[in-house]
Amino acid sequence: MTLERAYLASTDPSDGPAHTRFLILLAGLGGMLLMPLVFNAAFYRILREPFVVWHSALAVSLMLTILISSGLSAILLDFPVMTLSWMATMMFGLSVASGAMFTYSFVEPGRLHPKLRGALPYCACAAIFLSSFHAAFPFVARPIQSTIYTAGFAPILAIFIWSMIDALRRGSRAAKFQMVGWAPMVVVGLTRLVTGLFPSLNSEDAMLLFYFGCVFEVMSTAMGVADRFMTLKKQRDRARTEAELLERLSECDPLTGLLNRRALEEHYTGHRADGFDTLAVIDLDHFKAVNDMHGHAVGDAVLKAAAKALQPNANVLAYRLGGEEFILLLRGDEAFDLAERRRQAIPAMVALTVPGLSRPVTASMGVSLSSDAASDEDELRSLFERADKLLYQAKIAGRNRVLFEGAGTQKPSPPTQKIAPAALPGERAASRASRH
Ligand code: GH3
Ligand code: MG
Ligand code: MG
Repeated sequence: MTLERAYLASTDPSDGPAHTRFLILLAGLGGMLLMPLVFNAAFYRILREPFVVWHSALAVSLMLTILISSGLSAILLDFPVMTLSWMATMMFGLSVASGAMFTYSFVEPGRLHPKLRGALPYCACAAIFLSSFHAAFPFVARPIQSTIYTAGFAPILAIFIWSMIDALRRGSRAAKFQMVGWAPMVVVGLTRLVTGLFPSLNSEDAMLLFYFGCVFEVMSTAMGVADRFMTLKKQRDRARTEAELLERLSECDPLTGLLNRRALEEHYTGHRADGFDTLAVIDLDHFKAVNDMHGHAVGDAVLKAAAKALQPNANVLAYRLGGEEFILLLRGDEAFDLAERRRQAIPAMVALTVPGLSRPVTASMGVSLSSDAASDEDELRSLFERADKLLYQAKIAGRNRVLFEGAGTQKPSPPTQKIAPAALPGERAASRASRH
């Protein structure tokens, strides 16, 4: 590649099918290097990591290396031989530089000694400097220039090999993909070294294996990039899931598992848009007496049972506002009935779940209906204030009853009556009649 050797590249098709096949193979190898560019462009849109860019630079410079240093250049480019010479030199420098920068950015954090990682950008600069100088002034020290030029890359190669070994020792996955990728190139190097050193052997530069090695290296590291992409994506997904879990926990009441006030305030606007226009405030009656008589633990069990009776579903959202106070957001024509059924289910559910209470635990409820006029934030506040006022009046009126906007009081159900939430056929007609 430094024009120590030159070949006659024939463009004459009469040279035979073997020659044409060889050129097609080379063109195919060069073309394969376009594929990682397409993948990288797609990856980079999602994952703006510098190693994706350096991998593309490596693919481009190796593709141009194949094009310029093979017989393809005579057919596709038709540049003067000296132009091809300095271009080949530059491409070699660029390949080494982008390989070094790729390693610098691709090996995982903590899997490469900081000094070695820090040395890699210097290696990249040195490679660019060496090849630019050699390309620009090829004849300054003509008899020994090629040797000096080649020797100049020795420290770069040493740092690179050292980095690979260090990264492998520290368990880098990225380095494994690179090592596999460089394997054919190592064979090329050894072949050139051995056949060059022993005069008895025919000097062999293994160009075809070299071109194959270029492609293999890029393909192997492309798999490494895809592998890293999956790892980073998994990490990101996990972080997102955790954030969502925390978000959900922060909107959840730990005792009853119902949503809390924060969830109500945060998502009210969305729920309102989804048609939730009815708000019910439910407060357990004489709950303090339960605590006083049976203890706080039993009080907690009663709260859990009451929450269970509230049965959230597609049309009913249930919140614990704090203490023994709950809120239901409801939608649909049967909103009032859905709320009332749940209020009435509380004593039965508490009796079933917490046996041995001295008397039934009932609940009072105030229900308000949203008007479309008010703004969302004010609407929730005003809805709640109105429902709370009705609840207060229900308490004064004797507890264990419901009061709703624009109508009267719903008669309390007998405390001993067992009510299943879903089985109240007669109640719906009665409640709708009293509502309108
Ligand atoms: P009213 O019928 O007027 O609503 O009377 P009440 O006794 O239910 O209301 P009050 O506000 O006087 O008492 C509420 C009690 O709820 C007082 C408080 O100790 C208790 N409480 C609040 N939060 C919890 C809780 O998380 N667990 C338990 N066990 N008790 C709680
Ligand atoms: Mg109460
Ligand atoms: Mg209360």
